[in-house]
Amino acid sequence: MEMIKLESVEKDYGNKKIMVRALKEINVNIPQGDFAVFAGPSGSGKTTLLNIVGAMDNVTSGKVFVAGKDITNLSIKEASNFRRDKIGFIFQSYNLIPVLTAYENVEFSLDLLGKFSKSEKKDKIEKILEEVGIQELRNRRPNEMSGGQQQRVAIARALVKKPMLILADEPTANLDSVTGEKILELMKKLNEEEKVTFLFSSHDQLIIDYAKRILWLRDGKIRKEEIK
Ligand code: ADP
Ligand code: ADP
Repeated sequence: MEMIKLESVEKDYGNKKIMVRALKEINVNIPQGDFAVFAGPSGSGKTTLLNIVGAMDNVTSGKVFVAGKDITNLSIKEASNFRRDKIGFIFQSYNLIPVLTAYENVEFSLDLLGKFSKSEKKDKIEKILEEVGIQELRNRRPNEMSGGQQQRVAIARALVKKPMLILADEPTANLDSVTGEKILELMKKLNEEEKVTFLFSSHDQLIIDYAKRILWLRDGKIRKEEIK
């Protein structure tokens, strides 16, 4: 099954006077279970593409299907429900809530779904904290953790709701290469064992080395697709 399908996607920013064509004639198919990356230089359109797949931005023309759903023209409310129910996001800056502990940051993601009791939440959170290797850090706030530890919390937060798809925008950008590799090993394991589909945007060679599918972008176009 396709997890992501983009058909003739174009994206313009700006208005009639000043217009930037960020994406041109993008056609992409990413199957369920993939470990794929949008790669390419700065300004080539990686983040714009990831935002479109995550229903955070609209296309100018073309069609977008994610997890079997046409998300091309969702209302703000529909887009927000879609993100909450189907997608886990991981960002380069981790985006954790500073006043909450690691445990509470993960719990917050489940609270948004609003369908679990306190004890159901506890079971899920304990399991995921152990899986990503930060159970001892559960009571720490983000400023009491290293970058690698914070990114693990962010991964736990994305995973705890068992999303079909994880979108990760430059997730290793603020990590040293040893920590970055540990984080990628963890994501690869989750991809293989839990069958979560991962889609990255990155120019980090490490991510490109780990990826099973590389979609090389330049000037808003896909110029090459590499499958390993
Ligand atoms: P990348 O993630 O590969 O660095 P982006 O998707 O951020 O690339 O940007 C692609 C192109 O779109 C660039 O030319 C960038 O300047 C432009 N762009 C991105 N976001 C906006 C925006 N909000 N308004 C105007 N132009 C934008
Ligand atoms: P990693 O990110 O893989 O844990 P680091 O080299 O970043 O590795 O950190 C090593 C140790 O130093 C961490 O286990 C953590 O306890 C501590 N540490 C690093 N940065 C911070 C920080 N900003 N605040 C508190 N402790 C930190």
